[in-house]
Amino acid sequence: MHNALIERLESVRLRIRKAEQAAGREAGRVMLLAVSKKQSAVAMRAVAGAGQHAFGESYVQEALGKMAELADLPLVWHFIGPIQSNKTAQIAANFAWVHSIDRLKIAQRLNDQRPAELPPLDVCLQVNISGEASKSGVAVDDVDQVARAVLEMPRLRLRGLMAIPAPSANEADQRQPFRRMREILEKLRDDTGASLDTLSMGMSGDLEAAVAEGATIVRVGTDIFGARL
Ligand SMILES: *Cc1c(COP(=O)(O)O)cnc(C)c1O
Repeated sequence: MHNALIERLESVRLRIRKAEQAAGREAGRVMLLAVSKKQSAVAMRAVAGAGQHAFGESYVQEALGKMAELADLPLVWHFIGPIQSNKTAQIAANFAWVHSIDRLKIAQRLNDQRPAELPPLDVCLQVNISGEASKSGVAVDDVDQVARAVLEMPRLRLRGLMAIPAPSANEADQRQPFRRMREILEKLRDDTGASLDTLSMGMSGDLEAAVAEGATIVRVGTDIFGARL
């Protein structure tokens, strides 16, 4: 089982490397976030043994359990799931990154609750790039305003933007929302002067399209770990 896991990890790494090359991007610019929601701590330990230390989790209780089990490893934990207000204190205390800030109230709570002994929390705003009523994320038209407010929060460090576009089958269609994300980030950088360096976009099914459009973090679950439990 472990060998198969490592092989899948290696093949995802190779896909990222090839996509960087195809896009004329410097090798190693795209970070792989291994999405370990609903995967076991045993599988995570195997993947960590192959040098994968950044993990993405979507459910707070599940993540806290695995943090305890894997406390001997130098892991970096990213929260990528929907955030309820009553979970912000645990997220602020236990994660290094949050990709899924979708409203100002959540940002304010994370800022207020980030423990003083930890460095500022690295955060991205989640953008509802496909404009789906059912999906969370800041509306494209509100990104500037929310970003400016977050930039004022001393215990948060705004790094950039995250999105989960509506799925589409071919790479040309997949690239459109990713391209808009890049344009929104570039405009935000120009308008605010902030040093935003992160585009968190691309998953198992569309990482090539995301890397082609400038992703700096791809979030991959299924193609590393297999189907979720
Ligand atoms: C589950 C999840 C992923 C990983 O999706 P896969 O298709 O399994 O690679 C990436 N990002 C977010 C926000 C997720 O919830």
